[in-house]
Amino acid sequence: MIVVHDLHKHFGGFHAVDGASLEIEKGMITGLIGPNGAGKTTLFNVIAGVLEPTSGRVTMDGEDITGLPPHTLFHKGLLRTFQIAHEFSSMTCRENLMMVPGHQSGETLWNTWFGRRRIADEERALKAKADEVLEFLTIAHLADHKAGQISGGQKKLLELGRTMMVDAKIVFLDEVGAGVNRTLLNTIGDAIIRLNQDRGYTFVVIEHDMDFIGRLCDPVICMAEGKVLAEGTLDEIKANEQVIEAYLGT
Ligand code: ADP
Repeated sequence: MIVVHDLHKHFGGFHAVDGASLEIEKGMITGLIGPNGAGKTTLFNVIAGVLEPTSGRVTMDGEDITGLPPHTLFHKGLLRTFQIAHEFSSMTCRENLMMVPGHQSGETLWNTWFGRRRIADEERALKAKADEVLEFLTIAHLADHKAGQISGGQKKLLELGRTMMVDAKIVFLDEVGAGVNRTLLNTIGDAIIRLNQDRGYTFVVIEHDMDFIGRLCDPVICMAEGKVLAEGTLDEIKANEQVIEAYLGT
C-alpha cells in the first residue's frame, strides 16, 4: 500500500532519516520501533506530508504521494493522529469529533440557497456519527466533557476517534501508549484491532511498549540512525544482532 524508497530528511547537516526504504502492506498493523532518535517520528512526518523530504520517494497504491500536503493526503485516506491542540481543549469531546475537516457545513452557495434546514440535518447526522464513534471507543460517557479535562489515555482514544469521522484507509499512530495506564492501553489496543478487522484500516504504529507491539503488530520494522535495520515478527526482531546492538548503543 505504501512504498518508501530511499527516503532522506536532513536538518542542516544532520540526517534524521538517512536512506530509509520500507513497505507497508494493506490490512496489516505494522509496528515501527527503534531507539530514541532513530528517525521514526521524522519518517512519519515525511510520509504524512508534515515535512518535505530532502530526497526519496513515497507511493500509495502505486501513486506518487511524495511531498503532498496533509490535507491532500487526508482526502486520500492517509491520516496521522495529532495531539488535541490547546485551542480545542475547551470544546467537548463530541465537539472535537464534529470539527474534523470535510464535515463542516460552511457558507457555501448551496447552503445559502437551501437554508438552515439542510445545515441542521447535517449537524444532526454529524452529531450521531460522533456519538457512535465515542460509543465504539468506550468513552460515550465523556461526550459532554471538555477535551482538556479528560485523562491522557482518554485523549489518545479521542485522537483515534478523529480518524473514524472520515473514511480513513491508513492511519499513522505516534506513541499512542505514552503515559497511558495499562487498562486504557488495552482499550486503545482493542479499538485498533477492531478498526483493523471490522473496518479494514491499515495501521502503522510507533510505540515503545513492547507488550503492546507484540499484541498488535505483525510485521515489526526496526529503525536506527535513520535507516531500516530489520523487519519481521517481534520475536525475530528481538533476536536480531543488529537490533540488539542498536538498542544497547543508546
Ligand atoms: P524518533 O522518533 O525515532 O525518536 P525523531 O524522528 O524524533 O526520532 O528524531 C530523529 C533525530 O532528528 C533526533 O536526533 C532529533 O533530535 C532530530 N530532529 C527531529 N526533528 C528535528 C528538527 N526539526 N530539527 C533538527 N533536528 C531534528
